Amino acid sequence: MSSRLKLALVILLVLTVIAVMLIRFTPREADTIYVNGVVHTMDDDNSLVEAFAVTGDRIVGTGSTSGIERRFRARDTVDLKGRAVFPGFIDSHGHFFSLGLAKMTVDLLGSTTEQEAAVRVRERVLTLSPGKWVRGRGWDQNEWPGRQFPTHASLDRVAPNNPAYMVRVDGHAVWVNRKAMEISGISRSTPDPAGGKIERDKEGNPTGVFVDNAVQLIQSHVPQMSDDEEMEAMHLASQECVKYGLTTIGDMGIDTTEVRLYKRLIGAGQLPLRIYAAIGGVGELWTEFLKSGPLIGYGNNHLTIRALKLYIDGALGSRGAALIEPYRDDPGNRGLTVSSEELIKSASIDALKHGFQVCTHAIGDRGNDIVLSMYAAALQEVPVHDARLRIEHAQVLDSADIPKFKEFGIIPSMQPTHCTSDMYWAEARLGPQRIRYAYAWRSLLNTGVIIPGGSDFPVESPNPIWGIYAAVTRKDRQGRPQDPADGRKFFEVMSDTSAFDNGWYASQKMTREEALRSFTNWGAWAMFEEHLKGSLQKGMLADFVVLSSDLATVPDKEILDVKVLKTYVGGKEVFSARE
Ligand SMILES: [Zn+2]
Repeated sequence: MSSRLKLALVILLVLTVIAVMLIRFTPREADTIYVNGVVHTMDDDNSLVEAFAVTGDRIVGTGSTSGIERRFRARDTVDLKGRAVFPGFIDSHGHFFSLGLAKMTVDLLGSTTEQEAAVRVRERVLTLSPGKWVRGRGWDQNEWPGRQFPTHASLDRVAPNNPAYMVRVDGHAVWVNRKAMEISGISRSTPDPAGGKIERDKEGNPTGVFVDNAVQLIQSHVPQMSDDEEMEAMHLASQECVKYGLTTIGDMGIDTTEVRLYKRLIGAGQLPLRIYAAIGGVGELWTEFLKSGPLIGYGNNHLTIRALKLYIDGALGSRGAALIEPYRDDPGNRGLTVSSEELIKSASIDALKHGFQVCTHAIGDRGNDIVLSMYAAALQEVPVHDARLRIEHAQVLDSADIPKFKEFGIIPSMQPTHCTSDMYWAEARLGPQRIRYAYAWRSLLNTGVIIPGGSDFPVESPNPIWGIYAAVTRKDRQGRPQDPADGRKFFEVMSDTSAFDNGWYASQKMTREEALRSFTNWGAWAMFEEHLKGSLQKGMLADFVVLSSDLATVPDKEILDVKVLKTYVGGKEVFSARE
């Protein structure tokens, strides 16, 4: 080799080293760096970091504060001041539009007097322009002193310029104000319709309560929801979710209305969080989607529709859940199935062939057994690798069925607060044996499956921190049962006193880490999105929450005090608490 060539090679080597060092040590541009935090990445190793950098909607680096400050030149720096940061929470099972509708109607459940009910109506009226209908539901005069029907007068006082329409708890009567009666053309001379009754005073004047078929006299004048009202429902649901740190919702059962509203919101840049939706049943929308295939990552990863929601049975409380043996407190009743086994199988086959997931509601052990068998049969016919079929609730299981989730790769999608809401009476329905495999998180986790967590809002509060608390304590928010004395006082049945020691059937609790994963990256996995969200790593979406204290380390009883201070979706702040 000539000395000249040698020299050229040495120069090349030196230049390469300089170039590498320049690339390595020249700070990269980032939009924002977040420093001085306790950042739970929820990666596989559960790494804790202090800082991370965000560009656009993605995390571009994580590490120590000094490391991130050296590696990135950012337009903005946010000092996290030692606060805990977690991946944005994922509720794997909620009902988004219903949450918004619930927020728009006045909830009269639990009102203790007519006056109190009217006060609740007033709060809603204050947000409405004159002439708009105010709707509500849930009053029950049997809960009020005197047990008399309410009258229009109390509603007239709180809603003089808005027609008011309040449905009784059972749906069989409405309580309205004068304005609503005027619009409906109701007067003293309006006759009672067949099968219905207009409540009247001594002079025969309608008093504002319409029973059974008389409801129709008013109902036919209540306008359909306008576009604006539907959009308002979506906005209210969004606000409610981001307030609790939720950044992705598994919307379990949508129809064309929701598809239209989601796309409209996304088009207007007004959907602050992400939706993973399952089509509600095998109707027209499903037929359409079978032709088009799944919608994945629409609107910059704000909307994915790639699942089908089915039902096999009803609920445990109303004894509609399908059980293998009769209800303990209703011998002869085994509950009911609401879909045929054949439908679950054939719809699953369609779904698998066209790239969709199936999420089937199953509560009772018979319901779950049927869905597990039908899923297995469908998978045998269409052997899709990693199909991630889901059972929603998986509430009561036959012990022999527990290993089948792992065996068939089926995901139990569960709602920890259902356990702590139902626990007072669940054993009365199931008896001392079956109750051991109800809400059986530990038994399932021990087989090696994951459990994506949810709330089933608006059935329960969307607050995932309540879900995490329920998962790790199996206690209600008053801390019951702490011991068997609580069991005797508050629970309908207590067959095994040890099962009421420090939580209800406490051996089924999740660990703190499991509960946190349940509402973060296990949720992402159940949506095929673990590469995008659920953990805070380079390349992932910058969906995260800043909390008032560290959800991973606070004592159990302090979990409920943890507040969401900020919620970010795609690097954008979508919620900030007033501190
Ligand atoms: Zn649901």
